[in-house]
Amino acid sequence: MPVHARPEVVVSKCLGFDACRWNGETVREDFVELLGPWVRWHPVCPEVAMGLGVPREPIRVVEQKGAPRLVQPATGRDYTEPMEKFSAAHLDGLGPVDGFLLKNRSPSCGPLDVKIYTSLKPGASSRRGAGFFGGEVMRRFPLLAVEHEGRLHNFILRERWLTRLFTLAEFREVAAKGAMGALVKFHSRHKLLLMAYNQRQLRLMGPLVANPEHRPAGEVFADYRTHLGLALARSPSAGQVINVLMHAQGYFKKQLGAAEKALFLETLGKYRDKKLPLSVAQALLRSWIARFGSDYLAGQSFFAPYPEALMEITDSGKGRDY
Ligand code: SF4
Repeated sequence: MPVHARPEVVVSKCLGFDACRWNGETVREDFVELLGPWVRWHPVCPEVAMGLGVPREPIRVVEQKGAPRLVQPATGRDYTEPMEKFSAAHLDGLGPVDGFLLKNRSPSCGPLDVKIYTSLKPGASSRRGAGFFGGEVMRRFPLLAVEHEGRLHNFILRERWLTRLFTLAEFREVAAKGAMGALVKFHSRHKLLLMAYNQRQLRLMGPLVANPEHRPAGEVFADYRTHLGLALARSPSAGQVINVLMHAQGYFKKQLGAAEKALFLETLGKYRDKKLPLSVAQALLRSWIARFGSDYLAGQSFFAPYPEALMEITDSGKGRDY
């Protein structure tokens, strides 16, 4: 079984860490509890941290003179500057971090999908955008694994977030050692994963790792980090992923019977139609790797990009994977 790095994750504190919501409640998320033993959480509640109490009158994002403001309708108080100040100071002071898990729809934490009102009046119309803290996270860390908990109810989005999170965490640990040999191993171990995610970036990363000009390791790691972030930022198409799965299945074409091949094709079809998560096809391949043996495939992160205990197939049923 592969040993996974432990990601550093900033999380909205109300997602089970504290009863700090405006109404004095917390939000219990099964997935956050499941993930707990595998990551290092860094909980934060921007509203409490900038001085609001619990319970408190709710705040909302309101568009005023073309600019979003963070306002408390019950009092008319404007919390824009305190929130901006807190967000900048908190994010400036963060240590190494691989991802964020933020509260959906919060005017502070929400990274997207937050209601932006046109006025303070009840029933005012709205559009969707980012909250203040969540928006600042998105601006500063476009290459990290940032999500809100609502989207992670969808198994496809959850798989992508976990893949990104654990891969970035592993790279952070490799980069901390600064040894080119470790980078070569990392690149080789993630080759199929990168092939599925972004072949263009993979082509650029190969020469970086080969380093024919003998550039200093620090420079190579910095460039590689950017390319890795870009490669994982884009969701892989089902077609690219299926190509990689078929490529891997090709290693066992002589050993597999017709029924096993048919089951595999059926599983790929269901994955393509979003009826099954990728982890089901990966599990089939892992069983063949264990049965027939292939050192190369056994070492590929593509088959177990994050701990197996997190490979659940439960889903909200909404099938959103935007
Ligand atoms: S959404 Fe963010 S600001 Fe609001 S209670 Fe949760 S942690 Fe605090």
